Amino acid sequence: MSVMDIFETMEYGSAPESASPALAWLKERQPFGLFIKNEWMKPASGQYLDSINPATGKLLVQVASANSADVNTAIAAARSAFESWSRTPGHVRARYLYAIARHIQKHARLLAVLESLDNGKPLRETRDLDIPLVARHFYYHAGWAQLMACELPSYQPVGVVGQIIPWNFPLLMLAWKIAPALAMGNTVVLKPARYTPLTALKFAEIMQEVGLPPGIVNIVTGEASQVGESLVRHRDVNKIAFTGSTDVGRSIRRATAGSGKKLSLELGGKSPFIVFDDADLDSVVEGAVDAIWFNQGQVCCAGSRLLVQENIEQTLIRKLRARMEKLRVGDPLDKAIDMGAIVSPTQLKEIQRLVNKGIEEGAQMWQPSWACPTEGYFFPPTLFTNVSPATSIAQVEIFGPVLVSMTFRTPEEAVALANNTPYGLAASVWSDNINLALDVAPKIKAGSVWINCTNMFDASSGFGGYRESGFGREGGKEGLYEYVRPAWETMPSVGIPIANNYSHMEDTTLSSNDKDSELSATLNDSSSASPLIDRTPKLFIGGKQVRSDSGYSRDVYNPRGRVVGQVSEGNRKDIRNAVEAAHAARGWSAGTAHNRAQILYYIAENLAVREEEFARRIVLQTGRTHANALEEVQATLSRLFSYAAWADKFEGVVHRPPMRGVVLAMNEPIGVIGITCPDEYPLLGFISLIGPAIAMGNTVAVVPSQQSSLSATDCYQVFETSDLPAGVVNIVTGERDTLSQVLAEHDDVDAVWYFGSAEGSKQVELASAGNMKRTWVNYGHERSWLDAVQGEGAEFLREATQVKNIWVPYGE
Ligand code: NDP
Repeated sequence: MSVMDIFETMEYGSAPESASPALAWLKERQPFGLFIKNEWMKPASGQYLDSINPATGKLLVQVASANSADVNTAIAAARSAFESWSRTPGHVRARYLYAIARHIQKHARLLAVLESLDNGKPLRETRDLDIPLVARHFYYHAGWAQLMACELPSYQPVGVVGQIIPWNFPLLMLAWKIAPALAMGNTVVLKPARYTPLTALKFAEIMQEVGLPPGIVNIVTGEASQVGESLVRHRDVNKIAFTGSTDVGRSIRRATAGSGKKLSLELGGKSPFIVFDDADLDSVVEGAVDAIWFNQGQVCCAGSRLLVQENIEQTLIRKLRARMEKLRVGDPLDKAIDMGAIVSPTQLKEIQRLVNKGIEEGAQMWQPSWACPTEGYFFPPTLFTNVSPATSIAQVEIFGPVLVSMTFRTPEEAVALANNTPYGLAASVWSDNINLALDVAPKIKAGSVWINCTNMFDASSGFGGYRESGFGREGGKEGLYEYVRPAWETMPSVGIPIANNYSHMEDTTLSSNDKDSELSATLNDSSSASPLIDRTPKLFIGGKQVRSDSGYSRDVYNPRGRVVGQVSEGNRKDIRNAVEAAHAARGWSAGTAHNRAQILYYIAENLAVREEEFARRIVLQTGRTHANALEEVQATLSRLFSYAAWADKFEGVVHRPPMRGVVLAMNEPIGVIGITCPDEYPLLGFISLIGPAIAMGNTVAVVPSQQSSLSATDCYQVFETSDLPAGVVNIVTGERDTLSQVLAEHDDVDAVWYFGSAEGSKQVELASAGNMKRTWVNYGHERSWLDAVQGEGAEFLREATQVKNIWVPYGE
């Protein structure tokens, strides 16, 4: 027998891991109670749920099924612990997080086996990926706890956080949520997924081992309808962090609308895996195995759409099939298998349903010749070719080991296909031409882009989505902001000095009526001998002053109820036109930051020339003192300078995760932002919002102050003379909340900022659930726009950007 024959006939033996220590651990403790205040409590209902091993379909253990009374108890425990934990010095919190990381490592094998038993994923993955990443997360965030006082000095913890996690990476998702929450001084109530509670329960035991004070971490197992919904709706929860399906994410967005709860959502995906014809195809095949057959494809960022350049399609598909034929599916505790079991019969049925649909739709399905084990819930690796981009298998998240393949000819076509999805979580780009890969990566709408690699994660590099993949980041410094709020938010809001009955005017010989008309006359630049030339501003769309669709105008009143001007009454159609113009101007983001800065300076320059006129317009509309109005104009000029300064400085960072390579964390514009401006400070509020948005490369559709719209409409001419490209700023005057609602519902608006009433904020959050756009609302609370801490800076820049992490490995 030749050496070659030996190689070709060699079979893998099995390399089973013993489940005995984990099963003994379960047996000793079962049935599991709820972990509240560091104690194990019986559920109020006395009910328990079965936890099943998906590889065998057999019962592992029973865990408590909590109801809303138990959730209340857990939240009360977290609230009371928050008092002291939020004041515990960062160094002390760091010590606890460090201890947790150490204990995760001490129990690494037990945790890995428990995870495999409970979820069905291969031990190879839990041992080498899930658990080490869990420990890394706690170490990394121990560092942020230590550094919070110096790195985030003007922030405070959010409060009690409700965390809802899925079953696909049970302990890892717990770590992604609990580590930053604790580091920033919050307390938590966490609901594990129904199918996979076990490692969270072992984690609870670790909390006891490290002596974490009671109530900081509470783990409440049970059903979504009881535990999940109670957490979401509870009034004493300050934030919800959720990972799971887009449908549930959307329902949580609606349920929390207007409540003031912070929200981060990490949802589904249909991530592209793009292969150019110069890629190393053997590496690509191994990459595809990691992209779609890792964790049986039950990965939110799975590379489930293979986009391959047409001329290499046949070769790549042949190689892929050959590799699939060699994949091994079986007992998750066998260290020599590639794929384990699907988490539950429901998920298995859903995968089968979508695969059948793909066949019905005319795509060609291919599976290896071997059969999966019949005991337990297994599904073979599956490849679809001849897939049309509009079919359901090309669009719907299958969440199983199913890869669908499509072809492209040019890089432009690849980008268009990649972005042809409502999701935007991740993407892989394979090419030996680094220039091409780095050109394509920023064009893909996704939170993570992996170049010549896939499914790479690290605590230093934030993870999260665009569009229907949710909002917020987990990991990195950006992830910390999900668990803090500005320190000033508890300060009383600073009032605006309104002249008491126009007292500054009453010391003149003119009556206040006369004074009003004098101001009007001056503003209209007319002589008192001739009738005034009427100046009713139109809308500002696509760089042009256009009439509103409605053909109506609305009056602008001063605080005495006197009409001081008129503006156009914008409607739904005008907003649509404004959004369309903003889209057409998206080239703005491709220009240089230097150019954006120059234009902001130029706007300031042109506004400064008319400083006095703008001040008087503010007086006329608001009745504030002239000195105060002038202060607003001066602050506006300073703000324009600030954002001109920031335009080329809020750039991003380079991470060095534990791999040979770098991660480029780029602050990217969000796209088209719909902005509703506050009534207070009509000029400063307007510029304070559009400034950061356009400085970061967004284009905007703006509804200015409803009460005092004239300060914004006066800017038309300033914009026209400042080289601002048409469509970058579009302004629609009119009824604030009606127009904001249209912006929030619009599918082509990527984010909405709303500064108005509490009810308006709620309606914006509710309507935004349609395409899961990001929102930033004020819940009816005023901020002090004159104050540089509240009125400008990093908070605004973060709202105007999203972090894209581009992973670039190097070395041969
Ligand atoms: P869900 O979104 O239903 O579940 C995720 C978590 O949310 C679980 O803890 C679940 O509890 C809880 N939950 C469910 N409904 C509510 C609710 N109304 N209020 C509060 N919490 C709730 O995902 P599924 O497990 O049903 O999986 C369905 C699909 O979701 C998958 O096929 C996949 O497409 C997607 N998914 C995406 C994930 C991701 O990482 N982005 C992870 C998991 C699933 P319980 O487990 O008790 O039902």
